[in-house]
Amino acid sequence: MNKIIFPFVLIALLVGGYFLYNNQIQENTNQTATTQTRNEDLLEERSTTSPIECTGTIIPELTEGPYYKSDSPENSNLYNEELPGEKIVLKGYVLDTNCQPITNAWLDFWQTDGNGEYDNEGYTLRGHQYTDENGMYTLTTVIPGEYPGRTPHIHVKVRAHEQSPIITTQLYIPGAERNTSDAIYNEALLMQLTDSDDGKQASYNFVVNN
Ligand code: FE
Repeated sequence: MNKIIFPFVLIALLVGGYFLYNNQIQENTNQTATTQTRNEDLLEERSTTSPIECTGTIIPELTEGPYYKSDSPENSNLYNEELPGEKIVLKGYVLDTNCQPITNAWLDFWQTDGNGEYDNEGYTLRGHQYTDENGMYTLTTVIPGEYPGRTPHIHVKVRAHEQSPIITTQLYIPGAERNTSDAIYNEALLMQLTDSDDGKQASYNFVVNN
């Protein structure tokens, strides 16, 4: 009797073993595929979240010029439709030399309108603001115009914290005709400019002493 059953038991064990082995291989393959998909997802996520552009080098200081007025209002929107000049939204970070965003950093902007005129009586196109919890600022304004002897520029003072040194400098517009013939112009202070459906967008990251 046993002699008759034995081969069947052996065959059953072999067949059972084969299926178990096969399932395990299939499972491992599936697991590898899932891990691979997860890694690909992560890679894609990283490549779509662009890192903050930062050289880690403190921005150059440039002359304040004769038109700075202290005590500007706290205002990040200097734009109004009556002003000559094309609207522009400038955004960026204030960063330390390790490229870490600085919250509550102070920025004071002043500039001409699109015709190259400063408001020296009042505070048109003059305003200060503080970076948000991500270390970002946004300035809504107009593209400044030329005035005698100068390529278009936006003046700015920036300071990480109340005890930090103030850096006074100027930002420039890419492609402005007189950039290269302006003695004060510095390429490191060129904004990045893009056209969007909402108009011109610019960006610039300030690296300062913390
Ligand atoms: Fe100026």
